[in-house]
Amino acid sequence: MPELPEVETVVRGLRPSTVGRVIQQAVFPAAPGRMSNMDAEALSERVSGQPIRAITRRAKYLLFQLDPDMLVVHLKMTGHLYVLPGGETNPFDRWLRVAFPLDNGTELRFSDARRFGRVYVARDAAEVLPALGPEPLDEGFTLEDFRAAIRRRSGRLKSLLLDQSFVAGIGNIYADEALHIARLHPLRTASSLSDDEIIRLHAAIREALSAGLQYEGASIGWYRKPDGSRGASQDHFRAYRTRETQHLPCPVCGGPITTIRVGQRGTHFCPTCQGNPG
Ligand SMILES: [Zn+2]
Repeated sequence: MPELPEVETVVRGLRPSTVGRVIQQAVFPAAPGRMSNMDAEALSERVSGQPIRAITRRAKYLLFQLDPDMLVVHLKMTGHLYVLPGGETNPFDRWLRVAFPLDNGTELRFSDARRFGRVYVARDAAEVLPALGPEPLDEGFTLEDFRAAIRRRSGRLKSLLLDQSFVAGIGNIYADEALHIARLHPLRTASSLSDDEIIRLHAAIREALSAGLQYEGASIGWYRKPDGSRGASQDHFRAYRTRETQHLPCPVCGGPITTIRVGQRGTHFCPTCQGNPG
């Protein structure tokens, strides 16, 4: 699933071709069902004539600031956003769920093969967003706040990093990467961390996500940039592994990477560099 670096890359990729444009309507090839908080007709009527003032991100959500509403998109497993001239087709059109024709003849399209993605319209994003923790790449993500938040928690580090109400935007990939950078075992508990380990984890979260953003996300599944090209984050993984890359050694010690399941999520770590579960 796209995480903070992937979603932020999509936001940045969409801005040049969509900000300042006016949505003409919303065209659904089939009824949106659970994909949206509105039916097709109501959503189209609501967004028609609204300009796209800005696109931002909160956690793994894209926030299109219309005027006066917000269009909130979650890509989930296989969602893809792209912009094309109205008459032009693209392989992703096979899974097209909604198209937004814009005032310059282009279309903003959302395709989603697995249909877990979401497209919501609300006056305020808070109406449709769940409780979300701080943005880890913002300046407001301070060590003091992080230390206080982690002192209130007791769960395993891997599960804690995936909890969107603890820190926003981290998923399975960057949780494994951050724990490897911090040299912390994924089964360690929040309450077992020393102050030095909390400092390392705070810095590692930012380092893992910044690297992912620098490489424009990880294209190991469906994720592609809006122009269809791949991110390169997967070429720089420290601990996260796929079936194809599970044989690759730890880049720090050269030893094997171990895969376990934590809370039903595949979890990859170096038993040499990341100590014991405590
Ligand atoms: Zn290692």
